[in-house]
Amino acid sequence: MRLLVVEDESKMSDFIRKGLSEAGYAVDVAETGSAGESLAAANPYDLVVLDVMLPDQSGLDTARHLRRDDYNGPILMLTALSGTRDKVHGLDAGADDYLTKPFAFEELLARIRALLRRHHPEKQSMLRFSNLELDLITRRGRRGSKELTLTQKEFALLEYFLRNPNRPLSRTSISEHVWDVHFDTESNVIDVYVNMLRKKLEDGSNKKLIHTIVGVGYVLREEE
Ligand code: CA
Repeated sequence: MRLLVVEDESKMSDFIRKGLSEAGYAVDVAETGSAGESLAAANPYDLVVLDVMLPDQSGLDTARHLRRDDYNGPILMLTALSGTRDKVHGLDAGADDYLTKPFAFEELLARIRALLRRHHPEKQSMLRFSNLELDLITRRGRRGSKELTLTQKEFALLEYFLRNPNRPLSRTSISEHVWDVHFDTESNVIDVYVNMLRKKLEDGSNKKLIHTIVGVGYVLREEE
């Protein structure tokens, strides 16, 4: 899952970026509304966290522009204003939910999870494929009866595979959904992570589930 945070106060955006990264999301930060719009036009974000008070324009305008430009994912507004009218304006501008500053990080995380679930009914909290299970709330994975010990990045990578079973995934699409804008496209980081993930999934006598497609990338499927 890849998220965009549009927030000009660096303390606040650092706090949100660190917390969301620790929770396993790939996160990009924009400091202005227009920078956020450019990033959203270039990258497939699963959710946008949008501050209302931005230096170049109101976050309400940013929300309108994102919707105009066909961004269909959830928008969570951050506002220092707690008046009902501001919340209504935010929702009217295209936001799906709002959170009043200051907020507890746990609440931000819970709202993000709820928005992602609501926005994509198929985005249930438990992903399954073959004898593989990934619980997105407890962040635990199992293969058969064996618990998997995954790093945050391995978890995010496996989540992306599980959301796209039997579909060939290119390195570009993997990097766009699992890594942030600082990803070095020349590196072999994806191959390294896929190999580490495979070792954990295929430990022992388990059948191979992540297959290499030469010249394309990888696919999660059961062997014929
Ligand atoms: Ca602000």
